[in-house]
Amino acid sequence: MPGEPQEDCLFCKIAAGQVPATIVRETETTLAFQDINPQAPVHILVIPKAHYANAGELAAGAPELAADVLRETEAVAKEQKLDAHRTVFNTGAGAGQTVFHAHAHVLGGRGLEWPPG
Ligand code: IMP
Repeated sequence: MPGEPQEDCLFCKIAAGQVPATIVRETETTLAFQDINPQAPVHILVIPKAHYANAGELAAGAPELAADVLRETEAVAKEQKLDAHRTVFNTGAGAGQTVFHAHAHVLGGRGLEWPPG
């Protein structure tokens, strides 16, 4: 059921405090924490606390929550004093999605090439 916690979801467990994470920001509806395998000097994940499998499901099922997540990506970038940053939602295994709980990557602190690999 979209929005309901999933038993075997890592990010649901982080949102519930059952798995430790280095949390950098928290709101009523979202959590931002350090990526465990950073790809840039700043690499922070922003998740909705509620479970949606990817950004598309989140936007369709809970548009206000999707806006909360986006707002938080910008708050993270500002807090980290990034003068430029990239916000990425990988959707589907073919695009590199490995955790099927919607999350935005906020990357910065180095030059970021385009197009990405
Ligand atoms: P995806 O590949 O877009 O699904 O991103 C999942 C991200 O979660 C990857 O960048 C992983 O490094 C990160 N990750 C996996 N497990 C953990 C964890 O326990 N804490 C923080 N980040 C994690």
